[in-house]
Amino acid sequence: MQNKTLSKVDLIRNELDLEYKQSIILKYTLLLGLREKIPPSIRNRVGFSFEKLKNPKRDFPIDRKVQTLEYEAMKKNVSEKKYHLMIKPWTTFSACFTHDVDTFYDLKEGISILRKIEKKHDIKSTWNFVPESKEYKIDKELLKSLERDGHEIASHSLKHDGKFAFLSKHERRLRVRKSKEIFKKMGFNINGFRAPWLHRTRDLILFLEENKYLWDSSFPDTDNTTIGYRGTGCSTVFPFQPLIKENKGYRKSSIIELPITVPQDWSLIHPMKLSNEKILSLWIEKVDYIEDVGGLALFLTHPAKYDIGNNERSWIYDDIIKYIKNKKPFIGRCIDVAERWKATNDIQYNLDIKKMNLHMKSERRIKNLAFYIFSPKNEKLKSNDCELLKSDIFFNKKRSLFLVKSLDREMNMHFH
Ligand SMILES: [Zn+2]
Repeated sequence: MQNKTLSKVDLIRNELDLEYKQSIILKYTLLLGLREKIPPSIRNRVGFSFEKLKNPKRDFPIDRKVQTLEYEAMKKNVSEKKYHLMIKPWTTFSACFTHDVDTFYDLKEGISILRKIEKKHDIKSTWNFVPESKEYKIDKELLKSLERDGHEIASHSLKHDGKFAFLSKHERRLRVRKSKEIFKKMGFNINGFRAPWLHRTRDLILFLEENKYLWDSSFPDTDNTTIGYRGTGCSTVFPFQPLIKENKGYRKSSIIELPITVPQDWSLIHPMKLSNEKILSLWIEKVDYIEDVGGLALFLTHPAKYDIGNNERSWIYDDIIKYIKNKKPFIGRCIDVAERWKATNDIQYNLDIKKMNLHMKSERRIKNLAFYIFSPKNEKLKSNDCELLKSDIFFNKKRSLFLVKSLDREMNMHFH
């Protein structure tokens, strides 16, 4: 990757084709601590009556730029009479539920409202906490009980003061490090991070890598409301490894980015002022698209009183989980999705394009691995080593989906 020119996909997925636009007024309101003096009910209303976004770089709620480019590459391969292989750690699509815990109310009431719904549907989710929050003190027992129920605890940075993007590089690095250290002292070995206010900066991924985080979930695929990030997004509904800039060029980081692919509750409720029914229908529209392309439906909902953590709105969460579960996707916490994605990404393979032999090598055993083979010949593929799940026509050519029940380090597959 180093020294190489960036592909169009790299450029868009890493948001290098756009600028983050943080306002000066906001910067000083935050740095001078004026924000805390405004109650949330007003805070959530003021500042979002802005006029229509001029020239957003992403379409909302579905942006197809990266998807289209990847399809074009596949199409090109197949038309050049080559097999094209796509390995995925799930056979249909996957779903992941995450929550950012931002207010005192969340600890008192909001968490238990959402938790009850998840328990009913047997969903394990990821909960991001702020160790030095001004709003609350971390309740260690509550976090332990979430873990005991199978949920994941992760970091929502050190503080939630909205200053992250405005700090010096040194201070940002410190916040990422200290957050992990505090969790560790409390007995939580955390693996993931979500930037406060989704303040992803160009140096964030490097700091996460330095502190051995496994995953990050700070990039929406498309976002038209977050202050400073309106019209931005990584444009993909698949996990990816963000690039890190070094002197000579870019290199792939070790961080698995899990994009927020379903618009967060806060955006839809406050800036967009959607009714509860409209929120549900927008979520359904997005989930259907993600199912269609086989991606990751990652939700960010807040247990806050003014978001979805109340009895007037929590039914939307209940309904969308029911809707998703009916489709039978792979459902996991961020760590589950990130680990499976990483293992799949690390598979080395050799594809014999004449005989259609596949040799795969993996560092670890991976269960239930799916792979698509795009054949240039319109032929029917069969194998004794794996189960054919589906065969259909795609780009006027044959596409077959196979399931490997368990990939044990090394495997040879022959297709005929
Ligand atoms: Zn937050």
